[in-house]
Amino acid sequence: MLFAGGGYRLWAEEAIRRVSTRVNIDGEVFGPSDARISVFDRGFLYGDSVYEVLRTYGGVPFAKQAHLARLQRSADRLGIPVPGISWIQAQMDRTLAEASNPESYIRIVITRGSGPLTLDPTRARSPVCVILVKPYEPFPEWMYETGIRVAIPAVRRNLRAALDPAIKSGNYLNSILALGEARRAGFDDALLLDVRGRIAEASSSNVFVLIGSRLCTPALETGLLEGVTRGLTLRIARDAGMECCECNLDTADLINADEVMITSTLREIMPVVQIDDQPIGHGKPGPVYHKLRSLFREHALAATRAEARLGGKGDES
Ligand code: PMP
Repeated sequence: MLFAGGGYRLWAEEAIRRVSTRVNIDGEVFGPSDARISVFDRGFLYGDSVYEVLRTYGGVPFAKQAHLARLQRSADRLGIPVPGISWIQAQMDRTLAEASNPESYIRIVITRGSGPLTLDPTRARSPVCVILVKPYEPFPEWMYETGIRVAIPAVRRNLRAALDPAIKSGNYLNSILALGEARRAGFDDALLLDVRGRIAEASSSNVFVLIGSRLCTPALETGLLEGVTRGLTLRIARDAGMECCECNLDTADLINADEVMITSTLREIMPVVQIDDQPIGHGKPGPVYHKLRSLFREHALAATRAEARLGGKGDES
């Protein structure tokens, strides 16, 4: 109504103006240039932090319960005290409302906080909670239409007994090394093997391999992040009557696969059409990818619509 006289252009300009980044630090919301934390913060110094990334559909955060539960599990593994989950949820809602983007990217970071310059985690004072909300930027459409090319780098996935990849910590150097290697060689992403040569996961996604009619994904004991999208993809595929397995996969399974895809909150389900110099299947996104992606989309939209109707009180994932 406000723009009834000015028409669509004014409405569109207003919508663009309102797209914004907001950062909530320990319950106080800042614009991007005013948001600051200490250089003594252990997240900055040592990667001594945990985090989650969520996205919205129709403005509503998707799979919130699953992400917050994983945040809690990661923090428990590192012994970082987490503010109450309901407090985080309330701060996330408030920050989203202040940013008022049509669709948002949400990053929740909890660091062990500041303290004297020592590794000793018992010397840290109190944890810091940062919730960063910015406009959601989709991946380029060509990635879904033609598929991406990934490399298997020399660097291997962290050992579970060293730094368990199941902990979503702020230390992403393993993935950064792998992605850097792949990008410098001209590929879109990296697919990491574990030290025994089994497929683990991509730099920031899980991997699925279609072998005949079986949809396979590396088992958790390989050492990987238990992706929220991975879990939902397995559920959706099983509900659609597909045979699924969580198992050991090696590079021969990949190269001979009918289809390969990666999954993550931000990518949803994305097709992989080449690994190193080997094309996968027919070298283009396959029918199972197309089916799973549309089922996943339908699920995410239905779940967030239901969540909105319940006023944020549903278990939407
Ligand atoms: N593996 C790694 C290493 C990741 O960083 C991510 C992204 N969080 C994933 C898998 C996918 O997880 P999710 O589906 O929960 O986004």
